[in-house]
Amino acid sequence: MTAGTLRHVADLATPALLVDLDAFEANLADMAAALPGPRLRPHVKAHKTTALAARQAALGHRGFTCATVREVEGMVAAGLGEDLLLANEVLDASRLGPLVEAGARITVAVDSEQTLAAAVAGGVREVLVDVNVGLPRCGIAPERAGWLAERARASGVEVRGVMGYEGHLMMVPDPADRARRTEECMALLLAAHADVGGDVVSGGGTGTYAMNTWVTEVQAGSYALMDTAYTAAGLPFRQALTVLGTVVSATAPAGDAPGWAVADVGLKALGMDHGNPAVPGASVWFCSDEHLTFGGGSPPSVGDRVHVLPAHVDPTIALHERMHLVRGDEVLDTWEVDLRGW
Ligand code: PLP
Ligand code: MN
Repeated sequence: MTAGTLRHVADLATPALLVDLDAFEANLADMAAALPGPRLRPHVKAHKTTALAARQAALGHRGFTCATVREVEGMVAAGLGEDLLLANEVLDASRLGPLVEAGARITVAVDSEQTLAAAVAGGVREVLVDVNVGLPRCGIAPERAGWLAERARASGVEVRGVMGYEGHLMMVPDPADRARRTEECMALLLAAHADVGGDVVSGGGTGTYAMNTWVTEVQAGSYALMDTAYTAAGLPFRQALTVLGTVVSATAPAGDAPGWAVADVGLKALGMDHGNPAVPGASVWFCSDEHLTFGGGSPPSVGDRVHVLPAHVDPTIALHERMHLVRGDEVLDTWEVDLRGW
C-alpha cells in the first residue's frame, strides 16, 4: 500500500506502529554485509509483513523462515515462495501441499513420526530434522535425528538437513559466554547433521548471528526493526520500531508528589513478555489495557505525542494491522501487516 498523498506523522491516529526508514535500511544493510545472500534466511515472524520481506529479498536473502502455515501462505501469495522453511512442527500440513503443487518450495521442520506423517500426508516433499540443542521446546534428541531422517527418506520425502534453534541463548548478557554456549549447542547440531546428511544446517537468531559460524544459514528476524531487549543485550542494530502514542491525561507535580502522564499505548498495543516498553527521557511506571503511565523528564501536556519503544518486537507487531514508514515527520509509505493470524 503506497501513501497516495504526502502525510505527516502528526496526522496519524494513535496508537500507530512507526518504522524509522533510515534505521531500518541501515539494519538491513548491516546484516546483509555480515551475512550476505543465502547466509541469512530472515525469519518473517518478527515482522509479519510481506512488503518488508520483499526488501530483504531485494538485498539477496531469497529464502525465508516462517513460524506458521499462514505465514507460508502469505509469502507464497506475495511471490516470495522461492525457498520457504516452516521452522516449526505442524500436525496439519494440508494447506501446504497445493502450494508445493503450484511451484512453491516449502520445507517443513519435523521432530517426530507424527509431524513427519503430517508433512507427507499434506503433500510436503522436503523436510529438515529439527534437533533439540538445549531450548526446551521443539526438536528431537540429537542422537535420534538420524533415525527420523531414515524414516523420512523411507516415506519418500527429501531430507535437506537439520535445524536447531539455540533460543535460550539469545539474551545471554556476556557475548563471550553467549559464544561459548552457542558452540556447545552447535556441536550437538553438527553431530546430528553427521547422521542426517543434507546440505542445510539452519539455526541462530539476532542474538547469535555474529557468533554462530557453524550453521549454513542464520534465521534472524528481529534485527530488521529491533526492540529494547535486544538493544540491552548489546546488539549493534538500531531501534527502528516505535509505537506512536498521544498523551491523553497529565497530572502536574504537587508538592513532594511527582507528576505523571498517560499515553494511549497500553498492553493491547505492545508485546509485554520482555517487560515494560521505554519512553525516551521518561520512566515508565506501568501499562494497563489501553494506558501507559510514565513520569520523570519534562512533564508533557495533553495532546503531546510520544514515541514508545517496545521491549519485544514480534508480539508487538502482531497486534497491529499496519506499519507506517517514516523519515522525520513524513510518512513515506504504509505497509499492511499481512501475515497476521493463523
Ligand atoms: N529461529 C526460530 C525457530 C525462532 O523461533 C526464532 C525466534 O524466536 C529465531 C530463529 C530468531 O529470531 P530473532 O532473530 O527474532 O531472535
Ligand atoms: Mn522474539
